[in-house]
Amino acid sequence: MTPIHQFAGKTVAVFGLGGSGLATCAALAAGGARVVAWDDNAASVEKAGAAGHATIDLATADWSAFAALVLTPGVPLTHPAPHWTVGKAAAAGIPVIGDIELFCRERAARAPDAPFVAITGTNGKSTTTALIRHILVTSGRDTQMGGNIGTAILSLEPPRAGRFHVVECSSFQIDLAPSLDPSVGICLNVTPDHLDRHGTIAGYAAVKERLIAGVPKTGMAVIGVDDTFCQAMADRAERAGRTVVRLSIRNPVADGLCLDGLDIVRVRAGAEVFRFSNAGIGSLRGTHNAQNAMAAFAACEALGLTHETIVAAMRSFPGLAHRMEEVGRRGKVLFVNDSKATNADSAEKALAAFRRIYWIAGGKAKEGGIAPLAGYFPRVAKAYLIGAAAEDFAATLGAVPHVVAGTLDRAVALAAADAAADGEADPVVLLSPACASYDQFPNFEVRGKAFRDLVLALPGLAPIGGGN
Ligand code: ADP
Repeated sequence: MTPIHQFAGKTVAVFGLGGSGLATCAALAAGGARVVAWDDNAASVEKAGAAGHATIDLATADWSAFAALVLTPGVPLTHPAPHWTVGKAAAAGIPVIGDIELFCRERAARAPDAPFVAITGTNGKSTTTALIRHILVTSGRDTQMGGNIGTAILSLEPPRAGRFHVVECSSFQIDLAPSLDPSVGICLNVTPDHLDRHGTIAGYAAVKERLIAGVPKTGMAVIGVDDTFCQAMADRAERAGRTVVRLSIRNPVADGLCLDGLDIVRVRAGAEVFRFSNAGIGSLRGTHNAQNAMAAFAACEALGLTHETIVAAMRSFPGLAHRMEEVGRRGKVLFVNDSKATNADSAEKALAAFRRIYWIAGGKAKEGGIAPLAGYFPRVAKAYLIGAAAEDFAATLGAVPHVVAGTLDRAVALAAADAAADGEADPVVLLSPACASYDQFPNFEVRGKAFRDLVLALPGLAPIGGGN
């Protein structure tokens, strides 16, 4: 845990008592603050009480006694409308902050030189975060990973010299962290997403830019410049005197990383200084993962690792569970769990990564279904459709071989048998549903685990380690 000392002797209101809210209560209390906790959900309030935290109804409380409101990032700060606690905090004249802000203040006060990598972007955050952690751990660094990727930041060990914090930040978390000042700040990309919360794409991009704007002049800003928002962000960061490493999977760059065929090239002042490739790393398939590999490379380079160390460690990256996770092989057939692909955009990345695909798709469809994926249909040897979207997807597939399998277990059995009989090289059984899971599973994790279990139970299956 990271005890937070800044509010010692003061009272702090904490609203939102999920995992990160409870960790915040514990960290504040450990640092000597009085905590009053509340949630709109009675069960969460009860849980906080059971954990020993004082709970009071913030709707009727006297806010003049509070030094700050710590809000969970799931609660709207601005869009579509500020949560009622935000109005109360404004009326009381106290700051509204999140757990990452508390971490940043603690680090600034006690260990300002402790290496701190913060990662944001619309896509690729978790992969890049986990990859950086993997490289640091593999090269023997004392490393803590958390934030949006899972473990609440205040549940991590405290920052100190020689300890590396690698923290994934959602826009919601950045919004609540005005002092965010990572020694290495990464913004991978900005594309339309979560606009319900930020109003406009410009507003959403501006929030992400705060993570870059907070990087000190001694630090490093790593920015994927393949979209216009991030291009402008990189230019502004440079004009403001920051060291910027640009990443592109589309164009050459003068200072940063770009592609030369399948190679990733590190360029400094227009000259190539190193090259490597993600092509042979199963957990980092595809050009989108080249962007993530570039970002991790740039971050670890900035943290003082040698190029050779970084690339050697990258090769053993097991990948994240449910994101193009290689589950196992049977003969020449590879089984891949991409359950996280809950929309066509994500499924496209998986379809683009393989040539001969036995594709399990379906669930609760998003608008547009799989029509945008038609360009990849020639790669689909056969599709196995499940869930509520099955009939619609069947209609979209038209002449592409397909069967309405209905359930995941039937789909796996059919796809495994068909792929085993395939005469071509490298067939893949791919779960990349392009759908939410809610019609048949509580979430994409449970769906992915069900797929993994079904695959691992196939006779003769050789598991592949991955997934963390
Ligand atoms: P996030 O944490 O930002 O949601 P993940 O690393 O979990 O991102 O990846 C989620 C999905 O997004 C992946 O399955 C892949 O389809 C896609 N993706 C990953 N990295 C990138 C990237 N750099 N650019 C675009 N899409 C990506």
